[in-house]
Amino acid sequence: MIANIPPAPVVEGATHLHSGKVRDLYRIDAGEQAGRLLMVASDRISAYDHVLPSTIPDKGELLTRMSLWWFDQLADLVPNHVVSTDVPAAVAGRAVVCANLEMFPVECVARGYLTGSGLADYEATGEVCGIALPPGLVDGDRLPAPVFTPATKADLGDHDENVSFDAVARTVGAHDAEALRELTLRVYARAEELARERGILLADTKLEFGRVPGEGERGTIVLADEVLTPDSSRYWPADDWQPGRTQASFDKQVVRNWLTSDAAGWDRTSGAEPPALPAEVVALTRARYVEAYERLTGERF
Ligand code: ATP
Ligand code: MG
Repeated sequence: MIANIPPAPVVEGATHLHSGKVRDLYRIDAGEQAGRLLMVASDRISAYDHVLPSTIPDKGELLTRMSLWWFDQLADLVPNHVVSTDVPAAVAGRAVVCANLEMFPVECVARGYLTGSGLADYEATGEVCGIALPPGLVDGDRLPAPVFTPATKADLGDHDENVSFDAVARTVGAHDAEALRELTLRVYARAEELARERGILLADTKLEFGRVPGEGERGTIVLADEVLTPDSSRYWPADDWQPGRTQASFDKQVVRNWLTSDAAGWDRTSGAEPPALPAEVVALTRARYVEAYERLTGERF
């Protein structure tokens, strides 16, 4: 799975470190920013655990701008890793220079609604990450209160594994585990409220945190990676919310609908790579990303 990530573009003055499904990560070689990271968002899109052979024009820029906007909205709650948006011309608009942090090996997930792996765990055990939830909840239900449902990072192509708070405490220590939980829930509460005012439900989101190397275990915890993009979060149109069924995803529903239609001719259980998207599906999907960006930020793209 996820075999088809294209080679990362060469960026002058930076060394390629890693490529995920969507982003390419580099270390800056020399100059004022030497040693810092360059995080580049491509126009790649993934669905059903595959990177699709089609790209969505401007997606990398839209998600980069959305993430930067959110970092600003959250700046009074938590410091972030952004150093500069002055980046090499080849990646202008869709990259940020960020501090090279020691990352906590935890995907810090907050959920305000029940779906996805949270729903699967709940249906099997009545709990999510060791947190007992009331009986009778269905797909898409709003939870009585948002919960911290951490996961461990899986290798490329594998699924992250939900873990209990106690497991996180064993990995990073009780003090840091509590700090990560509190920061995650504060960020979620702020973002959920803001999105809801704009007619968008933030069902859940995944955050990553790190610490400035050398600051030691009492050093400041810094919000890193991308934040509150549709790639790291589930955004649902509020006027379409209806618990008891799969909710339409704000950004990828058009893609998923087409990929599972007869027109695509693709069997997603076959292991075969998905086909390229028709131009109209690409255009509709781009329009959804633009709409998400404009509705959330109130700015024109
Ligand atoms: P996926 O496509 O499933 O997200 P991935 O997580 O391996 O795969 P990316 O998200 O593109 O791929 O990779 C970004 C990597 O950079 C992650 O490992 C993330 O933890 C790391 N990272 C993010 N911000 C920082 C930072 N400020 N300092 C160090 N590492 C960071
Ligand atoms: Mg990632």
